[in-house]
Amino acid sequence: MDPSRRVGPVPKGIVAAGGSDVGREREQNEDAYLCDADRGVFVVADGMGGEAAGEVASALAVEVLGRVLTEDNIARWLSREGNLRSLFLEAIRQANDAVIAGWQARRELFGMGSTVVAAVYRHGRAHVCNLGDSRAYLVRQNRWAQLTRDHSIAAELAETGQITPEEARTHRLRNQLTRSLGQKPLEPYFCEAELQPGDRLVLCSDGLWDMLPDHVIAQIAAAYEAPEMAVRELIDLANDAGGYDNISVIVVKALGDAENLASLAAEPITAVELQLPARGDETGQVGTNEQWSFEEDLPRSSRKTEPGPQKQEEEPG
Ligand code: MN
Repeated sequence: MDPSRRVGPVPKGIVAAGGSDVGREREQNEDAYLCDADRGVFVVADGMGGEAAGEVASALAVEVLGRVLTEDNIARWLSREGNLRSLFLEAIRQANDAVIAGWQARRELFGMGSTVVAAVYRHGRAHVCNLGDSRAYLVRQNRWAQLTRDHSIAAELAETGQITPEEARTHRLRNQLTRSLGQKPLEPYFCEAELQPGDRLVLCSDGLWDMLPDHVIAQIAAAYEAPEMAVRELIDLANDAGGYDNISVIVVKALGDAENLASLAAEPITAVELQLPARGDETGQVGTNEQWSFEEDLPRSSRKTEPGPQKQEEEPG
């Protein structure tokens, strides 16, 4: 889709653009995305499965989330519950049902699945949800943070301290998912973050973050005033780095007046507090309560030089 057609209106407080590219190695693009700045709804899904099944799964994920995350539903959930946790969960459940119904109806689709990362922008906040290893980042000036959690074996090893985050980045099981649509457990991660004027919210599939260091993604997202330019550049850079996988990215930019931006620039920003819902009830597992800090924009370990293994070809262990 033409990114220039995805620019949202100023009154909403954001502009956004999205793009998806097949990359340099794959024959099909199994990613899908929805970039609706008018509604403030953004989704990236990365499908997996044999033949064209991955494409079907990611398309279903985007379609169902787009259908559930209506303006009415978002307004209703926010006024009733103050967050979108249970609405996201309902959307994820319906998307999962659609994926399973899809493979029940068509045998060749059996086993298909999809990651999903979704963000809803309302009243200066980003409400974010993910399942699998598609990510959301928040970029503020020269700092960035990953808002989502990767549901992969490597990420879980890092969370329990068995390997370092640096090791997780190149671990051979970094693409082996522990959660996704079409696979148990159906336990998405939720978080919220305030968006300040000038902030960028980046949603992407692993075809972007596996090819480019996080700080490069952050720098490029913030380097262009127009989100569609940043999207184009990020896709080009991921292809230049090898383009081993499909690449999808959405860049959302929070707008603000010049006075606001100037005062922000004068103040060093050290941390943003996330409000995370309490842990564990029948509606699903969520993240632990914690505060997080922006990671410093430090040099990171090198860009990947070897082709990454494909999700569906790897065995855990
Ligand atoms: Mn991928």
